[in-house]
Amino acid sequence: MRTILTIAILLFAWCNLRAQDGLNAKPNVIIIFADDLGYGDLGVYGHPTIRTPNLDRMAMEGQKWTNFYVGASVCTPSRAALLTGRLPVRSGMASRTNRVLFPDSRNGLPESEVTLAEQLQSAGYATACIGKWHLGHKEPYLPTNNGFDYYYGIPYSNDMDIRAGLLDGVGYFDFFTTPAGRETESYNVPLMRNTEVIERPADQTTITRRYTDEAINFIKDHREKPFFVYLAHNLPHVPLFASDSFLHTSKRGLYGDVVAEIDHNIGRVIETLKSEGLAENTIVVFTSDNGPWLPFGVEGGSAGLLRDGKGTTWEGGMREPCIVWSPGNIEPAVITDLGATMDLFTTFSQLAAVPVPEDRVVDGLDLGPVFFRGEASPRQDMFYYRGDELYAVRMGDFKAHFITESGYSGAGRETHDPPLLYNVNVDPSEAFDIGAEHPEVLDLIGQLVAEHEAKMVKGEDQLKDRD
Ligand code: MG
Repeated sequence: MRTILTIAILLFAWCNLRAQDGLNAKPNVIIIFADDLGYGDLGVYGHPTIRTPNLDRMAMEGQKWTNFYVGASVCTPSRAALLTGRLPVRSGMASRTNRVLFPDSRNGLPESEVTLAEQLQSAGYATACIGKWHLGHKEPYLPTNNGFDYYYGIPYSNDMDIRAGLLDGVGYFDFFTTPAGRETESYNVPLMRNTEVIERPADQTTITRRYTDEAINFIKDHREKPFFVYLAHNLPHVPLFASDSFLHTSKRGLYGDVVAEIDHNIGRVIETLKSEGLAENTIVVFTSDNGPWLPFGVEGGSAGLLRDGKGTTWEGGMREPCIVWSPGNIEPAVITDLGATMDLFTTFSQLAAVPVPEDRVVDGLDLGPVFFRGEASPRQDMFYYRGDELYAVRMGDFKAHFITESGYSGAGRETHDPPLLYNVNVDPSEAFDIGAEHPEVLDLIGQLVAEHEAKMVKGEDQLKDRD
């Protein structure tokens, strides 16, 4: 009996050791970024009819985060935050005049910024950016000048470059459901390989599959060395396109078809990692750049029970699904602590043993202890900017709004003094203002903001200059 017990204990200890040993010193990193997918748009996050079996399984096998944030509620600044680990206001990738970069924008991510790709490249990683970039499409700003060995994708949003004349007499938000709006040829967006345009207009009906093919090839080609793949799908940002195999398959309509196709292709990446024997030495993170684009009605996604969507500093604009998967290294768990895309910069830099830059403020925190040991998250607060203005702050359970504004119409800007206050763990829909009952919380948040603003150095606006 004693022998059996001893063997059992030894076996347990060995398995435990194996679990911690699974990751090499430099594990592979894959970040899959959806565009405008809302908090409520995955099966595992509660959508009743969008089928996402692959992401659901990854969430069951890994960590499902329920309080995970992006650095801004629109594409360009959100992507800058992810890749630099910094609030976009610091790099100048957030602006009052233009919320994102446009095809006639002159600038992009400043060269002085350090990207996660540059960090990992310096540690010997092979690095690929596949998909939407949106941090500057002029040559100095392209991924290949920002730490990526390889780029394949549409360098900005898939709705930009609508062909001349097509919008005449049609409202922008109505165009996408017109016959012309349904044609991929109506959007003259370029598809690039490294610094060359290889297809224009890009055929968006096959783009999700083709991005995945590129990612899979890169993984297979670099299976012997550490790799970082940043796979940033252009969809489900409008205009929505699905391939023939997915069209008309979802009860949720075209939006559901598109999300199901993304999910299917994420399954292909996971299968590749398994068949190549790489799964146990790879960390896959799935999240989205901002909340659903609500003015599009059923063409846009859903933030579930969170309030509002893309473009706003309500929870629906900036809280996103986040799934972290690495079999044998990350225990299944639902994480209700705070995390943010900026933290991935710091987490993966630490994991690859690359020092985080010390000559600037880096907002990202190391989530490694949460990922690998289930410890409490170091993140206690979150600053919600719109452009270069601070609109709201979360501190622990509480969130104070100083300014609120609708997503895109420019209407409804309201300043709140005293600020609105919500307990977003108790009231994730931000329906019940409890400021009057908790003046002490507002005081503490006020102190936090004062400290934050005293040290804030805003970068020069990179989005304002256009041709
Ligand atoms: Mg977006």
